[in-house]
Amino acid sequence: KESNDKSTTQLKSTCCYCGVGCGVIIEKQFNGLINIKGDESHPSNRGLLCSKGMNLHHTVNDQSDRLLFPQMRYGKHLPLLRVDWNTALERAAAVFSTFIEKYGPDSVAFYASGQCLTEEYYVLNKLVKGFIGTNNIDTNSRLCMSSAVAAYKMALGEDTVPVCYDDIELSDCIFVAGANPAWCHPIIWRRVEQHKAANPSVKIIVIDPRVTDSCAIADLHLQLNPGTDITLFHAIAKILIENGQIDASFIQLHATGFDAFKRMLAQQSVHEAALICGLSESQIQLAANYIAQSNGFLSMWTMGLNQSAVGVNKNLSLLNLHLITGKIGKPGSGPLSLTGQPNAMGGREVGGLANLLPAHRDLGNSAHRQEVQVFWGGKEIGSKPGLTATEMFDALADGRLKAIWIACTNPLISLPDVRKAEEALKKAKFVVVQEISNKAETLPYADVVLPAAAWSEKEGTMTNSERRISYLPKGNIAPGEALADQEIFCRFAKKMHFKGFDFPNTEAIYLEHAQLTKGTNIDISQLNYRLIQESRSIQWPYKNQQSTPRLFTDHAFHTPDKKARIHTVTANFNSEQPDDQYPYILTTGRIRDQWHTRSKTSKVNKLNQHIPRAYLTVHPIDAKPLGLREDDIVIVRSRRGEVTVPCKIDRAIKPGVVFLPMHWGKISGSDLNRVNNLTNKLLDPISKEPDFKFCAVQIEKFKKP
Ligand code: SF4
Repeated sequence: KESNDKSTTQLKSTCCYCGVGCGVIIEKQFNGLINIKGDESHPSNRGLLCSKGMNLHHTVNDQSDRLLFPQMRYGKHLPLLRVDWNTALERAAAVFSTFIEKYGPDSVAFYASGQCLTEEYYVLNKLVKGFIGTNNIDTNSRLCMSSAVAAYKMALGEDTVPVCYDDIELSDCIFVAGANPAWCHPIIWRRVEQHKAANPSVKIIVIDPRVTDSCAIADLHLQLNPGTDITLFHAIAKILIENGQIDASFIQLHATGFDAFKRMLAQQSVHEAALICGLSESQIQLAANYIAQSNGFLSMWTMGLNQSAVGVNKNLSLLNLHLITGKIGKPGSGPLSLTGQPNAMGGREVGGLANLLPAHRDLGNSAHRQEVQVFWGGKEIGSKPGLTATEMFDALADGRLKAIWIACTNPLISLPDVRKAEEALKKAKFVVVQEISNKAETLPYADVVLPAAAWSEKEGTMTNSERRISYLPKGNIAPGEALADQEIFCRFAKKMHFKGFDFPNTEAIYLEHAQLTKGTNIDISQLNYRLIQESRSIQWPYKNQQSTPRLFTDHAFHTPDKKARIHTVTANFNSEQPDDQYPYILTTGRIRDQWHTRSKTSKVNKLNQHIPRAYLTVHPIDAKPLGLREDDIVIVRSRRGEVTVPCKIDRAIKPGVVFLPMHWGKISGSDLNRVNNLTNKLLDPISKEPDFKFCAVQIEKFKKP
């Protein structure tokens, strides 16, 4: 904490939007308002901020939408009434206890967020898995990174990003798949742009069905057909193998599965792959050539690979490119999955998903479960994974689940086939909503509403996309009676008469979590708040007083035999295909200046000006027969619902494919901007991540009645 004059206090913190994890300086003014600037001492952003980070202070200074007091409803159709914390938590504890006693612990579930701080995640996971006795805890990270999590574990033996951002400047081939970092991870992309500008020979390959701003610096844009990523990655691998542009020694010493992979590729043709992908053979050859010629091959990806019914296979086939070329564990080389949320990584560290245990232990491993149970002093932990995000809402709909606690997330915008999710929430016997905003779509269905502190009103830590743990101080007092999320979870646990939730402060929670990592691959047991604050941030594992920028430099992977796994996966995918009735493929995504469900960014006028409302992008070839002109209103329908939005006619999308942004929910009670009315809850069988990037829709020009 530094003070530069009598009226302003400066605090070093971390941006709460995306997984880049930029360092910010909060300037607290004498009148209680704050300003934000980039922190030049933070290694992730070196003082730079994107439009969202730069305007973060507006989301804190404007308190007009904040929930101020706990509220409770005394009957499903009665209004919410203000109550005190004691009353609200006693009611929640009484109802949860009754259901647990009557129907068992699997009759309740907790749905949280990748925006929770690590300490909040930790206590919630401990409460649910260790004391309530169910694994029904999941977060919206399931909708974001779970395919990458599963693939890392399957290929490298650990859910871990082996590289660091400094590898950007050490790479000479950057391969960006299913991502638009120029809009969605802008500060990382700024580093890529600077690197390319200083070194024009660096090759940038962008793989995306859309022409995005990230393509502006691309040497090669592979505008593939949606869903064909695996076919493309296989074709690149085949060319590399047939040209002898692989690292045979690395494969022999440090990987298994190559022979089966090679045999499978021998049956395939690059010509056919090009036809399937909608590319030319020469484009695929060029991509393979850029990878082969590089010393540093860095791949980046986000939802285009993850949010798919074959998301794990897409990730595995990309990881294969690193493994067959040996371009991993070396400076400038390796996979860098870009985390969508600010602390999705921290949530995985504490085991905060339905299929995980703390410190990357395995839920299916009885010794691991026993270790955690003994450490917590709680109940026996079950081996069966709990319900994941979409599964929770299915279970509410069919009555298996009686009660749900929703914290820091807005599933009624973000879940696929969201009208079904809304119907499910209506059927829930008991709903607790822990929120900062009085506009959340979940509130009409809440029996108990708990006001939560927002970013900068609570302390804790987060881990960004390069495993970098940063400290976030409490700089502001939360309005009204709002409490930090970890405090709410601990108070609830004590109402349930559970032991082990009497933490004197937030650091005590952090230290307990850190102790549980001792001896694991993510060991931070020697790390405390003071060390994180002094060094500004540290990358795990932290051993011998050293941060770890890069993993697998010795090529000893975290599998039992220390070898990475090359997986032979099929390129088939079972997404809902277009047909005569629904002839277009819908893909969804983010826009530059909005964040998730807009609970923060919608408060900032400057950000709303960029793109003020949802829109459909259509290629001119598709627009013509539909009689569409720019800004015409269209009704987009799928088998699940419809939206009514203006259209933008743009050659930046492939013919036959249309795009809608994912941020908008209900406006004035109407849900006709809510893109997830359309999407499909088809899941990847391993990661349980939904197929947000592919469903079949029809388009009709809106005509006034
Ligand atoms: Fe925040 Fe991400 Fe922008 Fe950095 S890039 S300022 S972390 S939103």
